[in-house]
Amino acid sequence: MRINAERLKAHFEVLSQIGKFGETGVCRPTLSEVEKRAFEVVSEWMKEAGMTTRIDHFGNLLGRLEGKDSRAPILMMGSHLDSQPYGGRFDGSAGVLCAIEAVASLTEHGIVPERPIEVVSFCDEEGWRFNKGLFGSRGMVGRLEEGEWLREDKDGITREEALRQFGCDPDRFSESVYPPGSIHAYLELHIEQGPILESRHQPVGIVSGISGPLWLTVKLRGMAGHAGSVPMKLRQDALVGAAEVTLALNEIVKQNPDAPTVGTVGSMSVFPDSPNIVPEEVVLTIDLRDIDQDRRNRYEIQLRNRITEIAEKHRLSYEITEDINIEPRYCAGWIKDMMYKECETLELDVPELMSGPFHDALILSYACDYGMIFVRSKDGISHNPLEYSSYEDLALGTDVLYGTVLRMVSHVTRVKSPS
Ligand SMILES: [Zn+2]
Repeated sequence: MRINAERLKAHFEVLSQIGKFGETGVCRPTLSEVEKRAFEVVSEWMKEAGMTTRIDHFGNLLGRLEGKDSRAPILMMGSHLDSQPYGGRFDGSAGVLCAIEAVASLTEHGIVPERPIEVVSFCDEEGWRFNKGLFGSRGMVGRLEEGEWLREDKDGITREEALRQFGCDPDRFSESVYPPGSIHAYLELHIEQGPILESRHQPVGIVSGISGPLWLTVKLRGMAGHAGSVPMKLRQDALVGAAEVTLALNEIVKQNPDAPTVGTVGSMSVFPDSPNIVPEEVVLTIDLRDIDQDRRNRYEIQLRNRITEIAEKHRLSYEITEDINIEPRYCAGWIKDMMYKECETLELDVPELMSGPFHDALILSYACDYGMIFVRSKDGISHNPLEYSSYEDLALGTDVLYGTVLRMVSHVTRVKSPS
């Protein structure tokens, strides 16, 4: 192994004490004192790896290893050190610590990269404090919405105030934006947060892309009535319709059992919500995700048709609104090829799998080519203190990352000045 697995493990163990709760849990809110402490500790490791460090105006922590050509577009790597309120030790942290380990190993082996490398802990990936996530990555690539820093947390503190308290200056956001073309590529290692690698007994996977979520809200409206007296054949029961819509979605996404498509009705509200009234109105949510946009579009059309049929059958009126519609973002073929070659060298049989959850990589994909490595999650559990990935698997994933980085910083196409 070309990286130092013992050092990597030690870093995880120290970091998991910062914001620790219970035996294995972590609560590290964005822009908090706890995150600040994590940044201080992680900055030291970045420096030991040969990097200079800074915190930008979006609250991102950055470490930079200078390249032979300091003006060449950078190779960026990273993830996030903030956690869910009831989170685990590996989500986000893995991407930051494994990237630092890859850089530390380059430095130890005396390798000076052709292009600069930057390792980032992005501010507020998780999004629960201000109810909107991926803040630091969106800021860095110029994708913030006007005035969104005025959103408040539950104590009435705005993001702007929290940023200032953290030492950032929202009036200088523009200084922290990376101009187009300045990032050569982005790499992120992340725990899978799902059960696929474990079920295949494979420690590491190469990500094909991040699936595009479609979120719809469906409102079905019938007629309320006394549950004891309205005859069944006269009913316009919105909840019966909603139940059929839920089953229809489930059937539609399962028609191709080998596809990674997932569909969920995760929320339903019933009006008037009383045991002895026939439900008049139900509002339910649809979350449909796929890496294949065409298939997702086909399934959406099928679902909309089924909703029309179900509404007719139960004499309901309905309304569908689209809340989120994000296209899938594919990892770059040339980066996946490099990863496959690395895995071949390591005699590692790796599957290619889709990422259902978002990551900072989703945002970086709008600025540059990107690639992701997944590391096996125990029982597929994440956003939970029980989240677990073994240090052996993390070290293996880091070795693949290291080899990929090495390939990416060995050559820079540029006009050589005459000597
Ligand atoms: Zn994460």
